[in-house]
Amino acid sequence: MTVLTKAPPQVPVSSTPARGSMLATALAQLDSACDCLKLDDGLRAIIRQPERELTVAVPIRRDDGTVSVFTGYRVQHSSARGPCKGGIRYHPRVDMDEVRALAMLMTLKCAVVNLPFGGAKGGVTVDPALLSDGELERLTRRYAAMILPLLGGKRDIPAPDVNTGERTMAWLMDTISMLEGHLVREIATGKPIALGGSEGRSEATGRGVAIAAVEMLRRLGRDPQGLSVAVQGFGNVGQYAANILAAEYGCKVVALSDVSDALHNPNGLDLQAVTAHVRHSPGHLLAGYGLNGCVDHIANADLLTLEVDVLIPAAIENQITAQNADDIRAGVIVEGANGPTTFEADAILKDRGITVVPDIVANAGGVIVSYFEWVQDLQSFFWGAEEVRAQLGSTLRRAFQEVWAFAGRGGYDMRTAAYVLAVDRVASAIQQRGLFP
Ligand code: GLU
Repeated sequence: MTVLTKAPPQVPVSSTPARGSMLATALAQLDSACDCLKLDDGLRAIIRQPERELTVAVPIRRDDGTVSVFTGYRVQHSSARGPCKGGIRYHPRVDMDEVRALAMLMTLKCAVVNLPFGGAKGGVTVDPALLSDGELERLTRRYAAMILPLLGGKRDIPAPDVNTGERTMAWLMDTISMLEGHLVREIATGKPIALGGSEGRSEATGRGVAIAAVEMLRRLGRDPQGLSVAVQGFGNVGQYAANILAAEYGCKVVALSDVSDALHNPNGLDLQAVTAHVRHSPGHLLAGYGLNGCVDHIANADLLTLEVDVLIPAAIENQITAQNADDIRAGVIVEGANGPTTFEADAILKDRGITVVPDIVANAGGVIVSYFEWVQDLQSFFWGAEEVRAQLGSTLRRAFQEVWAFAGRGGYDMRTAAYVLAVDRVASAIQQRGLFP
């Protein structure tokens, strides 16, 4: 019998992530939080590495009869504080390192708003605009079946993310329910209301961004009424954030962009008209709006450097970088997207006195209402829209205040405070559970 006397060499799950990549940023932010906490090396090593990773092949039959094979991922970063939780994105740039970074952000996001969840993320490397509805459905069903061994209402619960939504979650839940032989509502959140989705889930991330922006402005002594706002990204998050800030808090949304166009009007955009346009336009894009000259069409990069009171990056990661951070002229940045600011850019913004509400607080509204959806599904007892809104508001405001107070006590910026609070919660859960076996 061979007895293994020497530990095999440690192979890190991720080789060094690419410089400037989202994983590099997430790990650098994590390390600086661990440094602030003087965290034990063993705990740091546990938190730096995802618990479990899966790469799957996703073959689908195309409408023309041929077969295409896509690559999908699901990464469970941590289950220390509860079932792993996090969205699924469809994007041509999805890769394992991006999914690892996003899974880690989910762990920290759930911890900072104190939800009883860990963190996970999934994705498929695909440009969904190039697939028909039927192809997208087959892709979703095959991907769901392939990652099924990891999923479960007590293990890992997906939700929508970039380029996925209610319809995606309905297909995913149906696929799993067919394979299990009974309806499994609690397997995913962000579902249509008729299938056990929650009131208020579709607006939740954008509403949370608006709440976080207003909470920040008020603490800086500024009344949101009449303040100018620029929003990068006019998908689910950007649309709700812009509309709620304008309609409920009197902000003036002066610029909006998506992959197809960027609109600017210093007197304020007609949000109702823009929203109606994207609802009916091909691919739900801004392209084709304002051809009568009612707005200026600017470059997407120029939206980020407009002189506005509030800038909301609500598109994808790595938008504010060392290249443009010196040119940002917004007073406050509220991160609707995950990881829109690189580690290097963050330091520049801090030096320049620009206040950043970090992603794990600013966009936590989505996962907060996902938590409510999961609770409602488990109890088969559903809440009204007012109840959901009230609970979202109080959960997010409480978390914001905790981070704000912690930042004040420790002399931290908001991002450092949020990360330190979150890492501390995750680390103490790991420590109190102890190492199995
Ligand atoms: N994809 C969203 C996020 O990044 C929501 C995740 C969820 O609800 O589980 O926060």
